[in-house]
Amino acid sequence: MRAVDIITKKRDGGQLTRQEIAFLIRGYTRGEVADYQMAALLMAIYLRGMSSEETIALTEEMLHSGEVVDFSDLGICVDKHSTGGVGDKTSLVVAPVVASAGVLVPMISGRALAHSGGTLDKLEAIPGFNINLSLDEFRATLKEVGAALIGQTEEIAPADKKLYGLRDVTATVGCRPLMAASIMSKKTAEGINGLVLDVKVGSGAFLKTEPEATSLAQVMMEIARGMNRRCVALITDMNQPLGRAVGNSIEVIEALETLKGHGPGDFNFLCRELAAEMLVLGRAADSVESGRAAFDEAISSGKALDKMRQIIRSQGGDPRVADDYDLLPRARHVRTICATTVGFVQAIDTEAVGRASMVLGAGRTTLDSPIDLGVGLIVKARVGDEVSAGGPLADIHYNDASRADEAASIIVQAYTIGPEPVEPPRLIHAVLR
Ligand code: URA
Repeated sequence: MRAVDIITKKRDGGQLTRQEIAFLIRGYTRGEVADYQMAALLMAIYLRGMSSEETIALTEEMLHSGEVVDFSDLGICVDKHSTGGVGDKTSLVVAPVVASAGVLVPMISGRALAHSGGTLDKLEAIPGFNINLSLDEFRATLKEVGAALIGQTEEIAPADKKLYGLRDVTATVGCRPLMAASIMSKKTAEGINGLVLDVKVGSGAFLKTEPEATSLAQVMMEIARGMNRRCVALITDMNQPLGRAVGNSIEVIEALETLKGHGPGDFNFLCRELAAEMLVLGRAADSVESGRAAFDEAISSGKALDKMRQIIRSQGGDPRVADDYDLLPRARHVRTICATTVGFVQAIDTEAVGRASMVLGAGRTTLDSPIDLGVGLIVKARVGDEVSAGGPLADIHYNDASRADEAASIIVQAYTIGPEPVEPPRLIHAVLR
């Protein structure tokens, strides 16, 4: 078999066999298929799509590119995964909440992808935090603390580790089969019993329409069922940033504030729904309503914040960040971006807001470009808010003035302001069980 023939077949709209998919994924993971050939294949898949048989074969090949862990001797394990959005820092809240309620959370996350942020980059904003645990360390941390948050490694989901980085810089992210295989290969490698999927839809999501998001959710749920994992999917709104903070350390601060009970309403609401579903899957709550009550208790008692401190400490990070935000990387300058017209915020091009954060330095432009963990945005005006001319839209936290100028003009253009009052979008569009 030759990689070029398989690329040609997909480019021309053919259906790949399991053997062809296996040949490429195994070869790529071992370093025998070059990045440029895999990039060409990814673009062919992006443009031509994949059947559900191909998607399942791709997921299984990616899953078996590394170890599939088994934590069943430790207890019930659940996880949550988002398809990617702007300001989505829910993992940093739901993992400690759910672990503090006695359900194990072995979480494998990703880095920033295109315009969306990544949990791993946010965690690395915490000084010393190690997302590269070995399999033994992953197990030991989970056993000791009840949650462990890591990235794909050479041992677990190595194919996704490589493909994820490549998709980020080759404009091949927003593709249903690639997203489904990426997410489900690492989630099913974790040894979880249950999974809550947060499938984002809207201007800041990779999938912009409800039918596309629902179909991705259905594909992933079918894969989960085929692998005997319980799975619930929430289709959630991404037509404006989630919460106020967009960036890395700036989002860690908002997550810590939420764990202290001071989070923005929309963000707290979504974390509560996701955690409640996880607690039901983890058999720590007998209904979503009692899961919500458990979330509230974990926050008001301080147990979830304590759990976050334990997670940080056990993964080598400095737990004092929970009380002293100056220990996190911070941008040197802040500039407020103002509206030029009076009216109501009709819409926010949320992908553009994510791009503005990337322009400031919060994301990568090449496979190994460094990121600036301190920069980002605080959104001041949300959909439905009334703004005055000169009123604040967002604060830009920056280190480089020319990048700030570019981000500022992206932000101004991202806002549509008009005379008509509008209702803010509903955050949860549907729950699929
Ligand atoms: N999250 C992932 O892990 N992979 C994707 O492709 C998108 C979001």
